[in-house]
Amino acid sequence: MTQPSFGVIGLAVMGENLALNVESRGFPVAVYNRTSSKTEDFMAKRASDKNVTAAYSLEEFVKTLARPRKILVMVKAGKPVDIVIDQLKPLLEPGDMIIDGGNSLYEETERRTKDLEATGLGFVGMGVSGGEEGALHGPSLMPGGTDTAYQELEPILTKIAAQVDDGPCVTYIGPGGAGHYVKMVHNGIEYGDMQLIAEAYDLLKHGLGLDHKQLHQVFSEWNTTDELNSFLIEITADIFKYIDPDTNQPLVDLILDSAGQKGTGRWTVVSSLELGVPIPTIYAAVNARVISSYKQERVAAAKELIGTTGNYEGDSQAFINKVRDALYCSKMCSYAQGMALLGKASEEFNYNLNLAETARIWKGGCIIRAGFLDKIKNAFNENPKLPNLLLAPEFKQTILDRQDAWRDVLVASNQLGIPVPAFSASLDYFDSYRRDRLPQNLTQAQRDYFGAHTYERTDKEGVFHTEWAQS
Ligand code: NAP
Repeated sequence: MTQPSFGVIGLAVMGENLALNVESRGFPVAVYNRTSSKTEDFMAKRASDKNVTAAYSLEEFVKTLARPRKILVMVKAGKPVDIVIDQLKPLLEPGDMIIDGGNSLYEETERRTKDLEATGLGFVGMGVSGGEEGALHGPSLMPGGTDTAYQELEPILTKIAAQVDDGPCVTYIGPGGAGHYVKMVHNGIEYGDMQLIAEAYDLLKHGLGLDHKQLHQVFSEWNTTDELNSFLIEITADIFKYIDPDTNQPLVDLILDSAGQKGTGRWTVVSSLELGVPIPTIYAAVNARVISSYKQERVAAAKELIGTTGNYEGDSQAFINKVRDALYCSKMCSYAQGMALLGKASEEFNYNLNLAETARIWKGGCIIRAGFLDKIKNAFNENPKLPNLLLAPEFKQTILDRQDAWRDVLVASNQLGIPVPAFSASLDYFDSYRRDRLPQNLTQAQRDYFGAHTYERTDKEGVFHTEWAQS
């Protein structure tokens, strides 16, 4: 058996499946997990007939690997990553490389890259998207960090990544924490997509009264359109047709309406605030999950705060089409925000991101994979300095053509008392971005009034202050 040079530490969902993916492409693999029984289980149940070598101590694991060693760490994000790196460091030699494939915060990846590069080791912070299935059959990979380490890894990464019409879903993202930054924003966009779909569902179910079969049909149909064809729309259609065997009811109706989160959406919002890039759709999506978690308070408030409710009275099919258009317009705004954030981060952190390539590697393997990403790739290929996706010719015309339907949906949702925070945030983003004059002239006057913060004028050069109370 050829000695492996690729090893995986951490045999939970992602580590197990990535190890099997690498092995299936012809690269022998060594594996190690802190809890030995998990390694034994994995070897017995999934890897007995595979070119996989199990190690039961880190020393044994490192010795098993041919140099330069390529070690993928797939453990819980946060402290465990530092613990594993600290244990590995004294065992490795210059030229060896560690890949952190977990959802690490980009700032921590920045720190780890500096620490490890200073010792002659390579460090690649790599975003991995696609969940269990993707990990096994082809994820979208977003590796950043030591570029020479990436060159060594490229032959393996290009084989294990999802393959689409224009290549494997992997590219070198940039130095330091660039890979994890892009993965973080990918997840922020994923939050946005999921919330927008949830709002469309709410409008169709509670505004229009569609049942689970009709919802399945609508989402299946949307999945055949150029604009909305995507993994998330496809699984949404599937979810509506799943019947709970115990109760014979659609399972989705029995699920508690309180959404969890692990932090990447919140990190995206924090970074956007720090960099001064508006991402209101993604922020609304994070907030929607937070407010959903106040279940008990909401149940109590529902009895006190009585407001408008009701069913949509107009033409059903016309409303379904308008909701589809509102969903697509909002989605364009959400991606415009995410890409603008990546553009600013690239400047600020010297990541030198290629936004067309970023959109391309999201076309397959990952949770936000969608036909629509091809249009984004083309838009940034045509103009890498595009200030906002909404200004790209194909997006501009589409959003202009559909804005009336989008506005009608927001009017209807207001009248029906159905909250659509991400639809609304998206329309406000669009309306703010397209206004040449916003009311912040008044904000500036107020700031100058109470804090002498000064203001600029539209009619003459300079910085001004007024004693407002005396005027
Ligand atoms: P996980 O549940 O996040 O982590 C479990 C793994 O971490 C186990 O192998 C565990 O070992 C190990 N671990 C925890 N603390 C450790 C420590 N102090 N020292 C050594 N090992 C330690 O696993 P996962 O779901 O496979 O995810 C792995 C990473 O990928 C995470 O960062 C996650 O956010 C990211 N990710 C997950 C998904 C997904 O769909 N699950 C998708 C993309 C990215 P023991 O068995 O000994 O406890």
